[in-house]
Amino acid sequence: MKQASDKKFSQNKNYQLEITGLTHEGQGVGKIEGFVVFVDSALPGETVTVKIIKETKSYAVGKLLKVIMPSHKRVNPFCPVFESCGGCAVQHMTYEAQLEFKKDTVLQNLKRIGGLENVKVHDTIGMSSPFNYRNKVQYPVGIENNEVKIGFYENRSHNIIDSSKCDIQPEESNIIRELVREFCNKNNISIYNEKTGKGLLRHVMIRKGFKTDELMVVLAVNGQKLPQADKLVQQLTDRYKNIKSIVLNVNTRNTNIILGDKNICLYGQDFISDYIGKYKFNISPLSFFQVNPIQTEILYGKALEYAQLTGHENVFDLYCGIGTISLFLSERAKKVIGVEVVPDAIADARKNAALNNVTNTQFIVGEAEIVIPKLYFEGTRADVVVVDPPRKGCDEALLNTLVDMQPQRIVYVSCNPSTLARDLKFLSGNGFEVKEVQPVDMFPWTGHVEAIILMTRCGSEDKK
Ligand code: SAH
Repeated sequence: MKQASDKKFSQNKNYQLEITGLTHEGQGVGKIEGFVVFVDSALPGETVTVKIIKETKSYAVGKLLKVIMPSHKRVNPFCPVFESCGGCAVQHMTYEAQLEFKKDTVLQNLKRIGGLENVKVHDTIGMSSPFNYRNKVQYPVGIENNEVKIGFYENRSHNIIDSSKCDIQPEESNIIRELVREFCNKNNISIYNEKTGKGLLRHVMIRKGFKTDELMVVLAVNGQKLPQADKLVQQLTDRYKNIKSIVLNVNTRNTNIILGDKNICLYGQDFISDYIGKYKFNISPLSFFQVNPIQTEILYGKALEYAQLTGHENVFDLYCGIGTISLFLSERAKKVIGVEVVPDAIADARKNAALNNVTNTQFIVGEAEIVIPKLYFEGTRADVVVVDPPRKGCDEALLNTLVDMQPQRIVYVSCNPSTLARDLKFLSGNGFEVKEVQPVDMFPWTGHVEAIILMTRCGSEDKK
């Protein structure tokens, strides 16, 4: 058994510390006698008093008791359920300060992990109105004291935090949530219980095409049918003429995964359409699609700018998802090869290319770190490579191949500054030079940091 003396902190004592950083989940980070402590709702620059509520070998978690010296960046959160809801993390910070924080996070990571001292990081591109920006919401449905709850999971738990309005969703999502709630109450619809695996309605997903105004409502159920579904269809379509798709998604597995594989169309068609730039995408309930379409267009515009294509280049778009970046680049490239590990996403990418009459793209299913070395071995080369990896960054086998291949430019889109810094360090030490670093705020009010980077081959004659 662990002895009390193993512990660094006493549970009965209050501790004071200065917060120096913020995690991507919005927790403040500081140190007490050199030991890392995470504190919810505390901001960099603040001095706070905490009680230690958890301690491990490498870090402790403090509960915020008092802010002794508040940061001038602190504001009152606009959402009444901010403290408990797991959706947003930094509503207690001005939007301007969030943008600065995201830029600084990239800068610090590049310095600390990447050893890149003299790199200029541009100001984060924020949204002029950082509200109602999400094109997709997935509300879990539950029941508590005989009341139907439709909302978001609480921080680090599966309790559902209900409220009538979420300001980062479009207005329609708030209204549709209330219509579904009313329908469940009036028709005694049974609600799924995660613990017992019994009950019917599990999740409500709503998607909106921002450019087309088309709406999709997906009802995920633990069964094959929704009683009185025609009534719900009537109510929803009476309220919104732009609903193009209502789908029943069958998910009878006892799992955290929100949607099952089987979709039954209750109304209209089983997809909606939207555009990013001039490219059209058909989006099914299970398709991946970037959730902030306004910022996505800015991000992809930067990718195109950094790629500096003249029409003669062979381009790799690695970790290509449903081929969105590939299509964006195709117009100014000779050929774009997209590589992605999820077969369904590649099937969507091929359909999307056809939908937009794009004929100079090729999509390959597989891991980039296996497909690219193989293509290189067979003699295929790229002049420009775009990578958009998941949080764990690029595999070294891929980076090694890029070093051997020596493309003129590498455009790196990253959702994790620490793995970005690690990968840029590797490439910087192997013949590439960081030219531009541009953070783009894809998820206002959350701690997520996205950035796009241009690297060029050392000695290549480049305009930038
Ligand atoms: N570029 C796309 C998707 C980026 S998300 C867009 O902007 O929409 C990262 C993608 O990498 C996901 O689609 C994920 O399935 C894919 N992925 C994860 N590991 C991979 C690997 N080793 N090789 C190729 N693709 C991978």
